[in-house]
Amino acid sequence: MTLSDEIFARATQVIPGGVNSPVRAFRAVGGTPLILRSGAGCRVEDEDGNSYLDFVGSWGPLILGHAHPEVRAAVHEAVDRGMTFGAPCRGEVLLAEAVVDAYPGIEQLRCVSSGTEAVMSAIRLARGFTCRDLIVKFSGCYHGHADHLLVAAGSGLATFGEPSSAGVPEAFAGLTRVLPLDDEEKLDALFAKEGDRIAAVIIEPLPANNGLLIQRLEFLQHLRDLTERAGTLLIFDEVISGFRVARGGCAELYGIAPDLATFGKIIGGGMPVGAFGGRREVMGHLAPDGPVYQAGTLSGNPVAMAAGLATLRVLERDDVWTRLNSLGEELERTLQPVLGRSGIPARLVREGSIFWISLQEGEAPRSAEAIQSHAAEVYRDLFQGLLRRGVNIAPSAYEVGFLSTAHSRDDVEVFVEAVENALSERS
Ligand SMILES: *Cc1c(COP(=O)(O)O)cnc(C)c1O
Repeated sequence: MTLSDEIFARATQVIPGGVNSPVRAFRAVGGTPLILRSGAGCRVEDEDGNSYLDFVGSWGPLILGHAHPEVRAAVHEAVDRGMTFGAPCRGEVLLAEAVVDAYPGIEQLRCVSSGTEAVMSAIRLARGFTCRDLIVKFSGCYHGHADHLLVAAGSGLATFGEPSSAGVPEAFAGLTRVLPLDDEEKLDALFAKEGDRIAAVIIEPLPANNGLLIQRLEFLQHLRDLTERAGTLLIFDEVISGFRVARGGCAELYGIAPDLATFGKIIGGGMPVGAFGGRREVMGHLAPDGPVYQAGTLSGNPVAMAAGLATLRVLERDDVWTRLNSLGEELERTLQPVLGRSGIPARLVREGSIFWISLQEGEAPRSAEAIQSHAAEVYRDLFQGLLRRGVNIAPSAYEVGFLSTAHSRDDVEVFVEAVENALSERS
């Protein structure tokens, strides 16, 4: 029995499923989760001393790789000055200024401690601002685990939401409408019927939590025009894409500014940080200026702010997006032919440094409905084959991978070769 196995066995006694977030349990790929003890650059090490080339990157935050020296130094310095004050601090002002400066249309920002909290607060603000009760989400988009977003399309009347988790009251889910991505007609039909009741539409402009479902620009533009006409707030959930696909996230990449945007992952530089922002007119509805209540004991925490600020500083200084884009192109150029030759239906879907190996025939899917479900078995073999070769990818066929500035072209080459060998071993 390895040390990892032993620790995980103990974990299952005192932590539900042995994990503090379900996907970590490896249920989709089998086996015991890696118990990681350290990370440096693009590599992680487990409790047994095995080293892996890592493309999970803590699910998105680590755009500079693990334990980046400048981020570590900033955190150490902040820790030495005190962990938390529950009072305004300079770091939170600097972080808000950085996001306001980078992101199209944002004039004010509020920090929270997770992406879930950012989304939950943005939804409440949208409802408070518009005095409307309905929200719209798209199937295939993930927005964290707040009650009104753990909702799936109902089976009957297509758009009425049903709870997708036990514990979410039908009455809550009933205020959420769920639409397919990539479908202007359904969107128009819903707005024709209920547009004047819809407080907000929330979307991942680059849906990256159920495969990577790259949207047509026309669809996003249509959504922008429609919501504007209806007096509905458009919320871009940029928790993954913010500071990842461009300095100004998808808003910059696509040239479409939402009314509100939510952030997390990268802006915390590896610490628990979320944030949401928008125009002053909208954000002014938040307490203490306005009637929408929202608060947090550790919000704007100085240590977390230091990690986020150090990360954003490096991103700006080194124009990391250009570099990561070209690394992504290299991955695509070398991996696509390997997948093509593999004898199984597979293609690389990529935007910048986010990638997904889609295991199905035909063009890349743009909606959850277009995803075929047979991929899981092939993916399990690919995942285990890569792990045996010292490569760590997400333990689910529908999670994306991330490149970081710590990955080199050589690392990409090692990855592509490992994929080729893992797939050929299978057939
Ligand atoms: C990760 C994620 C969230 C949730 O963030 P947490 O920090 O895990 O609560 C919300 N929205 C999107 C798009 C995400 O990728």
